[in-house]
Amino acid sequence: MVKKILFKNIDTIVTMNPNKDEIKNGYVLVEDNIIKEVGKDEGKRFDVDLVIDCKDKIMLPGFINTHHHLYQALFRNVSSVQNAKLFDWLTHLYEIWKNIDAEAIYVSSVVAISEMIASGVTTTSDMLYLYPKGTKGIFDAEVAGARHSGIRFYPCRGSMSLDKENGGLPPKDIVQTEEEILMDSERVIKRYHDPSKYSMLRVALAPCSPFSVTEELMLKTAELADEYDLLLHTHLAETEDEEHYCIERIGLRPVEYMEKLGWLRDNVWFAHTVWLNADDIEKFDKNGVGISHCPTSNMRLGSGIAPITDMMKKDGIRISLGVDGSASNDTGNMLEEIRNAFLLQRVKYGADAITPRDVLYLATMGGAKVLKIEDYTGSIEKGKAADLILFNMNKLEFAGGLSDPVAALVMCDNKKVDFSMINGKIVMEDGYLLDPSLSAFIDMHNTISTRLIKNNM
Ligand SMILES: [Zn+2]
Repeated sequence: MVKKILFKNIDTIVTMNPNKDEIKNGYVLVEDNIIKEVGKDEGKRFDVDLVIDCKDKIMLPGFINTHHHLYQALFRNVSSVQNAKLFDWLTHLYEIWKNIDAEAIYVSSVVAISEMIASGVTTTSDMLYLYPKGTKGIFDAEVAGARHSGIRFYPCRGSMSLDKENGGLPPKDIVQTEEEILMDSERVIKRYHDPSKYSMLRVALAPCSPFSVTEELMLKTAELADEYDLLLHTHLAETEDEEHYCIERIGLRPVEYMEKLGWLRDNVWFAHTVWLNADDIEKFDKNGVGISHCPTSNMRLGSGIAPITDMMKKDGIRISLGVDGSASNDTGNMLEEIRNAFLLQRVKYGADAITPRDVLYLATMGGAKVLKIEDYTGSIEKGKAADLILFNMNKLEFAGGLSDPVAALVMCDNKKVDFSMINGKIVMEDGYLLDPSLSAFIDMHNTISTRLIKNNM
């Protein structure tokens, strides 16, 4: 068994350490699942089991994706909602999603995670809020899928409790009672949540959104999170329709509603946060909330441009990137998310609003801080987990762009990593995922997707 691995001759190590050091001609020594040494490669000799020559390669800490719905990889590019905005898109898709089962969740988790690993993700969160009546083992199936893939996982036990009849958006077949939700949340916490350092799985709690969850459930979920010292996650201020909904039904704008519920605090992270005013941003800053910015989904659904540039000026706000579900992104490619975050901010705020290095930070250390796992992920430093990715710069897409190779990762056409190691285990090499069962999973995934979409359109 390989225990000690030396990466030598690395063109550039983008450490994301507190000084944001970039080390030219560096080396990294890994033992088991931990980084033991990082430095300049000066021909120092080590007694190791494996040496990996990284000539022409750039090393980064693995990316951390903080918002996803893995199951939606079954519902990419559904033709009937290609041109729909969020509420219409959801109302239509709920009718298809209500037929999902544990097998579909398992298979889609493997496929969606594989796609993310190929684009450099080594830690992902997921918000799973779909528990159709009569189904069992839904959350357990996605954990099994993540374990198969070997990713560091931060699943959220999502929930929906407010159906159409009671003023919400989802149909009654896919919402649960508050009792069911809280009981199952406690079950999955006890079964899966591992709070230890280098943990491969931590659980968060995630009532889905203001238009699918009761006020009571928001309050009780926060109580449960406090009891087990967990993080909380939800969608917030994604669209203008949501703002109108909140004002009409609750009499408050989305952020004011969170304030009323006691949800503005530092164990919370919100997905999207597009429709914010200056007051909202001040409140986020004061209360230390986390953000998952999902630019591709926001563009695809025409939701708007989140004021990330304004929030980056506030020290109290922790900001990260999320691919969001593949039904509103149609990919789960983190490199594309990084590039879209970079370009979209410039559309609104100008060419000097955000740099390539800024967005790489959001995708690494930014994510670690939002998930509060920065003590062992997010940077390449001694004592951190060995979650490492490599890019081969000697390729067509970077040709002519190497005056600043680190920026080229964002500026040029960069779709895939060449190598990935998660918790000391190599999962991708020479641009290929090492999972031998992947093509069988893709076949199963397509069969399930076709069945679900065809039978319900
Ligand atoms: Zn989402």
